[in-house]
Amino acid sequence: MADAATTDVVTLEILDRWVRLGAARLDAEAERLTALDSAIGDADHGTNMHRGFAAIVAKLDAAPPQTLAEFFKAVGMTLVSKVGGASGSLYGTLFLDMGKNAPDGTSMSAAEWNRVLAAGVAGVVGRGHAEPGDKTMIDAFTPAVAALDDAVAHGASLADAAAAAATAAERGSADTEPLVARKGRASYLGERSVGHIDPGSASTALLLRAFADALAGEAA
Ligand code: ADP
Ligand code: MG
Repeated sequence: MADAATTDVVTLEILDRWVRLGAARLDAEAERLTALDSAIGDADHGTNMHRGFAAIVAKLDAAPPQTLAEFFKAVGMTLVSKVGGASGSLYGTLFLDMGKNAPDGTSMSAAEWNRVLAAGVAGVVGRGHAEPGDKTMIDAFTPAVAALDDAVAHGASLADAAAAAATAAERGSADTEPLVARKGRASYLGERSVGHIDPGSASTALLLRAFADALAGEAA
């Protein structure tokens, strides 16, 4: 019999657990993210993300979404409206574009999750015009989507695919340290941005790890 925590589809319930776990981890890690942003930005990334995800939890409590599309739209709209700064509009775009590409109904396969996340990331690139190596959240998202593509192509389980994506995002984030920032506020520092991890890549890694853990049954 399958382990109770093993699932081969991403359900609305798992997505709900994901963003609640993400909110709890952003609460715990807000200071670390803000410290990263104080080195190469304006010291607000942790508070921005924490505020946004706390508002998402409140929104989900007030009006539980009934479909995948409704879920992603609610999350995206909340981020756009509650989080100022680059990350609000970029993460907002991610979730709104995921919603536009979500299949009908309340669950999706690993291959569908792969396509939905890839579409969201394409939306972030379309909005922010960052390329891999520009020292942004795209440096975490791009390897994560590539790892998902690879896992799905090889028939990996959803759990293994999600864990591989999270690990790839964590590596991608760590690998931003030696880079010169070419997008966002950190780009104003030029060479002085070298030697610091990009805060947005760190929040992306945190969120993708929370997704893998929520899938494995962890709750906030
Ligand atoms: P702000 O820069 O407005 O203060 P945040 O501090 O919340 O906003 O978010 C900063 C993060 O946003 C950066 O660390 C980077 O990962 C991401 N970012 C900024 N500009 C872009 C861009 N054009 N494309 C992708 N990501 C970006
Ligand atoms: Mg900032």
